[in-house]
Amino acid sequence: MIDESIQILKGVGAQTSAKFTKLNIFTIKDLIEHFPRNHEDHQNIMPISNIKIDKHNSILARVISTPQLTKKGSLIITTFKVTDDTGTLSIIFFNQPYTRSNFHVGEVYNFYGIVNNKYNTIQMSSPSYKTLSQYNNMPKIVPIYPSTKLLSQTLIRNYIQQALDLVKDEMDEVLPEEIILKYNFLSKKEAICNVHFPTSYDVFMQARHRLIFEELFILQLSLYLLKSDFKVKNQGTVKNIPDDLMCFIDKLPFSLTTAQKRVTNEIIADMQKEEAANRLIQGDVGSGKTVIAAISLFITIRNNFQAALMAPTEVLATQHFKFLNEIFKDFNITIKLLTGSTSKKNKQILLDSLQAGEIDILVGTHALLEDNVVYNNLGLAITDEQHRFGVRQRLKLSQKGISPDILAMTATPIPRTLGLILYGDMDISIIDELPPGRTPIKTNAVNSSYYPRIYNFIRQHIDKGRQCYIICPMVTENEKTDDLKDVISYTKQLASNEFSQYNIEYLHGKMKGREKNDVMTRFANGDIDILVSTTVVEVGVNVPNATIMIIENAERFGLSQLHQLRGRVGRGIHESFCILISDSYNSDTKARLKVMTDTTDGFVIADMDLKLRGSGDFFGTKQHGLPEMKIANIYVHTDILQMVQREVENIMKTKQTRYAELFEYIREKYKYTNPTL
Ligand code: ADP
Ligand code: MG
Repeated sequence: MIDESIQILKGVGAQTSAKFTKLNIFTIKDLIEHFPRNHEDHQNIMPISNIKIDKHNSILARVISTPQLTKKGSLIITTFKVTDDTGTLSIIFFNQPYTRSNFHVGEVYNFYGIVNNKYNTIQMSSPSYKTLSQYNNMPKIVPIYPSTKLLSQTLIRNYIQQALDLVKDEMDEVLPEEIILKYNFLSKKEAICNVHFPTSYDVFMQARHRLIFEELFILQLSLYLLKSDFKVKNQGTVKNIPDDLMCFIDKLPFSLTTAQKRVTNEIIADMQKEEAANRLIQGDVGSGKTVIAAISLFITIRNNFQAALMAPTEVLATQHFKFLNEIFKDFNITIKLLTGSTSKKNKQILLDSLQAGEIDILVGTHALLEDNVVYNNLGLAITDEQHRFGVRQRLKLSQKGISPDILAMTATPIPRTLGLILYGDMDISIIDELPPGRTPIKTNAVNSSYYPRIYNFIRQHIDKGRQCYIICPMVTENEKTDDLKDVISYTKQLASNEFSQYNIEYLHGKMKGREKNDVMTRFANGDIDILVSTTVVEVGVNVPNATIMIIENAERFGLSQLHQLRGRVGRGIHESFCILISDSYNSDTKARLKVMTDTTDGFVIADMDLKLRGSGDFFGTKQHGLPEMKIANIYVHTDILQMVQREVENIMKTKQTRYAELFEYIREKYKYTNPTL
């Protein structure tokens, strides 16, 4: 019955069910999993003499004045006084003149709402209310549901109660019995009932805890299953270590760091296995991930497979293309570049030779995902800056071959607990070391009174041969955002004043691909001294001679963005600087900027971002394609998530036949959301 339409409920017809559609509720199951946003607490009746100002209070009081209507502008206000013999207060309703007839002098009602003290009158505005007998008969902790204007709380409550009565006895336990026993969890039935209509706060907390645990448990287990199923399904890409691999590595312009060597070995081991590799390489900005990609490409090509390298921006794809051409130049490897601005004619030639197997490595942007990009035998699919892509895109790229190895690279540092969720279907390698000789970037946060000094500072460094980035939040001038710097007019201003002797140019996302590449190339070649840009330079771009990063209106950027932007400097042998300019007095902004000046450690910054925002943009979660959570929040419930991960890891380690039924349930549940299953 749980999977039937909500129309089986009394009072729910086509019209009401259409209203529920707006809340994504179609079945009884959807409805009972529509969890309350919070609860009204009517357990404690507050004497008016003790009333808490600016808080929710529940009172029982007698009406002592006839409700009056007054008009104030377009507002119609209903007011009357009530008392409970310890004190009196005013009840107010706005634009609900009909409420007047609901209250009778001398009768007692329950009122629940926020109390405030205005012009020395204590008043409760727009409270919810009950007659005394309604109050006596109602549950004392009342759920408040996320809703639309179309559905009242009373209706939703009524339908959920009905639905629970119908199905509460047929609710299946998903959690293994030993886990329920170990944690002393409520049964599924008790948990679901008490999360809606708790008999006490204590039991509500227990109910919620168990449901959060269960939701995270299913998610984590599904990801581990995805990972192990992937390995069973994707066999047969064994690659041998080519004879000239060491020769290639020796010819690199630098020797690998210990961390790079470790990760290289992990990848080599992956590639030699029968099952396809599916690995995420996580390393802070500048840790040297590209060369790891190059080594994997080399092994793949030498095993006579083709390979793809996908990057989120044209600028970055072009940069990879050049880097690979440079380091592979003595090794007879054919590399091509495919982006949105590849001409139609060239593209056709390129696609034909790709299909004919004449191209070894295809580097590019999202363009690589198009259906007409067909490989002869794709053996390795790499996505750089994976956090800019979703799971689906990563998989789409890999589906262009017969179980190719998959590598993804990301500079976003993720605490382990979250990594197991966001990349739960992959193995993870971490490059936790920067190449030698880097001096830490010095970061300062200042206000606009520092401009003269900042401009001087930039001039001094350019005169020594260095280059500078200036990041602005806007592309063009906009009257509404008068106080924000924009790339175009700021460049104009600086070019004709402060930096008139220097080469200064701009870059932004609305420019044509070719123009962007042209500017980036000239900046990389040192022909441009100062690059004024939007965040398009945020990902991956590598110009080691650029040593100054100025960020205008720093308050407009999140910590992750600031960290990524700062990572554009400090990539060479020269000392680098990052100057964050902001006139904001906002305490959140100040806290963010302080984190930036205090540390350059990506993990610390990720952690702080979580604490400051408690949300997921940092990791680009929206793009991860994770199923929507009903009650758990992977950023908030990290402690429960850790418990879940311990349990799930144990389950995956023990004899799994015991859990066959559970695994089937989960595979079935995620069949449609996980394209590889
Ligand atoms: P990211 O991890 O941010 O993608 P890159 O791969 O772009 O970093 O590398 C950053 C810079 O460090 C590049 O100029 C690269 O050539 C250089 N690099 C990488 N590995 C080493 C190393 N082991 N020693 C010295 N420089 C290195
Ligand atoms: Mg990179």
